[in-house]
Amino acid sequence: MVTRANWDSALRHARVPHAWFSRGLRRFQARERDHTVARTLADDGRAFEQVRDHVLFDPRALSTGAGRPYTVFTPYRKRWRSEAGPHVWASLASDPAGRLLPASGEPALPPLAELGFETTNLGELGIAVGERGGADQLERFAERIGEYAARRDYPALAGPSYLSVHLRFGTVSVRQAATLAAALMDEGPPALVGAETWLHELVWRDFYFQILRSISRHVVAQAFRTEMDAVRWEDDDAAFAAWCAGRTGYPLVDAGMRQLAHSGYMHNRLRMVVASFLTKDLGIDWRRGEAWFAQHLNDFDLAANNGGWQWAASTGCDAQPWFRIFNPVTQSTRFDPRGRFIRRYVPELAGLSDKEIHAPWTVEPARLAAADVRLGETYPGPIVDHAQARQRTLARFDAVKSED
Ligand code: FAD
Repeated sequence: MVTRANWDSALRHARVPHAWFSRGLRRFQARERDHTVARTLADDGRAFEQVRDHVLFDPRALSTGAGRPYTVFTPYRKRWRSEAGPHVWASLASDPAGRLLPASGEPALPPLAELGFETTNLGELGIAVGERGGADQLERFAERIGEYAARRDYPALAGPSYLSVHLRFGTVSVRQAATLAAALMDEGPPALVGAETWLHELVWRDFYFQILRSISRHVVAQAFRTEMDAVRWEDDDAAFAAWCAGRTGYPLVDAGMRQLAHSGYMHNRLRMVVASFLTKDLGIDWRRGEAWFAQHLNDFDLAANNGGWQWAASTGCDAQPWFRIFNPVTQSTRFDPRGRFIRRYVPELAGLSDKEIHAPWTVEPARLAAADVRLGETYPGPIVDHAQARQRTLARFDAVKSED
């Protein structure tokens, strides 16, 4: 019998086996798994019941007037908000048929180790684990949710909820999350704006699930906008390796990549910055970055990851326009103005001033020496010139446009 206590302790040591992340397996794995389970149970004369659990709306529940899946976020969000309510986020426990763990006398679930899960370092990183840990974390986030809208873009601040790994593995249910946001919105200020902004992110989550569910065979391996499959990406293994290792010479990019390597998490602003850097500054195919994230994120989720990468690469639905290219230095001065996040993950630059730390190659040699920074030795020079890379990217996308 699996008790809540040993389930929690099992999850403390949980890590999804890396094999799950290999491209071939992860593509349709969840649906194939469900079909296999249904077939196996049917062969055994047993029924197989499915419940909507991982999302707020079933990916096929909301469609456009023409009966097609939404491919633009804003109309999807409006429809989502008009249809949402307590009936959507009611707890599964209130469903008399919804019993998720075996009752006493039924065979126990196999231990997670037997299922191929490995130990994580989540505990060491201060991420409370298991269902109880998730509930605590949600409760603590509720106390600062009012500041979410103002703080969420600054990686040095505790702005976001850090609940993604819990939402990914179900140790916090997305229904609990939406219930909390809706209740705080009903209460009005001071939590209203933060709660509303946070709910908006949960809608993005549903949105990408419906894209994946409805168009999966297409978006998993190819650009959502099919014409973008003609983009000629660079085949630069050395640049890709530098990006993976957090050694591009752009401090905010490197800090984000090192946060990922260290913790299995990356702040949302940095996911956008590093994805833009890989695709628009280095000109490398978004699929390589997507696969790297899939391998290293503890919250890896095919729908959100694919959606986020295609958004950044301007190949996806409702994506960043291709001519809008993040400047990695401007992003750094804007979202980590005092370099606090950079210092945390790129300590070799810690001696530079708050102003200098965003672009060390522009700093006077005497100042670099005083801060004990030797470019090319203690920290790399920039592997690409952003202004030139921007021109190359505009030409790369322009060529595709002209072929249309
Ligand atoms: P919060 O800001 O507290 O958001 C709460 C929850 O809303 C998140 O946990 C997540 O479930 C959902 N959410 C927030 N933003 C998004 C979004 N843009 N798209 C979909 N859902 C969202 N999220 C993942 O869960 N798994 C991924 O593999 C993933 N890969 C990404 C790759 C790229 C290139 C980009 C740009 C974004 C990606 N995201 C992914 C979305 C987002 O970055 C993370 O959900 C967020 O950073 C998780 O941190 P949090 O829980 O503190 O977020």
